[in-house]
Amino acid sequence: MSDADFRLDGKLAVVTGAARGIGRAIAERLAKAGAKVVIADRDMVEGDLVAAAIVAAGGSAAFVSLDVTDAVGVAAAVETIHAAHGPVDVLVNNAGIVRNAPATEMSLDDWKSVIDIDLGGVFLCAQAFGRRMVEAGRGSIVNISSICGEVTVTPQPQVSYNAAKAGVNLLTKSLAVEWAKRGVRVNAVAPGYVGTELTLRGRSNSEWFETWMRWTPMGRLGEPREVANAVLFLAADASSYITGTVLTIDGGYTAM
Ligand code: NDP
Repeated sequence: MSDADFRLDGKLAVVTGAARGIGRAIAERLAKAGAKVVIADRDMVEGDLVAAAIVAAGGSAAFVSLDVTDAVGVAAAVETIHAAHGPVDVLVNNAGIVRNAPATEMSLDDWKSVIDIDLGGVFLCAQAFGRRMVEAGRGSIVNISSICGEVTVTPQPQVSYNAAKAGVNLLTKSLAVEWAKRGVRVNAVAPGYVGTELTLRGRSNSEWFETWMRWTPMGRLGEPREVANAVLFLAADASSYITGTVLTIDGGYTAM
């Protein structure tokens, strides 16, 4: 294995939901590894700023407006990106939301929006970008799942999120098997809690954090860059014999 196995020089990577949080850290990490990165997010203002920051740091990046639930928009984005930048080598399905509520109180709208974005969006993008990858005979897809796809994280009432992320895990394995002989690898990472807007919004009291630290063997939240490093590994040739894997990044939480 050489350092080149961890580089993405000359490769084109698309990261959904990269206008902030984990997606932004992934985009920055892949750019540092040499990839040209497309920030694909529905937030145009922040997305443009992320692309500009990567370019200012010496990397290569562009923004494309994308709502991962919009099949027509996803198909159009595939064409736009291909025409402007060439074939996509790496797709990171990162866009996601969470709506916490006890199952008995969850609205149908909240259920549907989580399933549509966190699971449906992963399928739509994997299908649309993956089709081109299969034609080209090469590509790597990394889906951002969660430990919530494997275990319930009490006391969070996250029925829709858990169901969506469990779906992402088996979607990952299904696509990996389907495309294994076509040169396209499909893997996922499953982070525990990472300090981003998705996690911190609405949590001003310290009780939740103290509970979480107690339950996590490493005693802290994860950082976006720690997820990004794992994504780089799965995106790059360093992981060339790995497909259908869900890599846990949780400070030991699910090992307890
Ligand atoms: P953030 O809320 O910080 O960022 C999510 C980004 O995705 C936002 O820019 C958001 O834009 C965008 N997005 C949401 N919906 C769509 C959509 N339909 N189309 C395009 N972009 C969209 O979340 P995180 O960075 O924390 O999470 C990123 C991923 O990591 C998610 O899949 C999440 O489930 C997963 N994850 C996060 C963990 C954590 O602890 N933070 C732990 C485990 C997994 P907008 O502002 O418009 O909503």
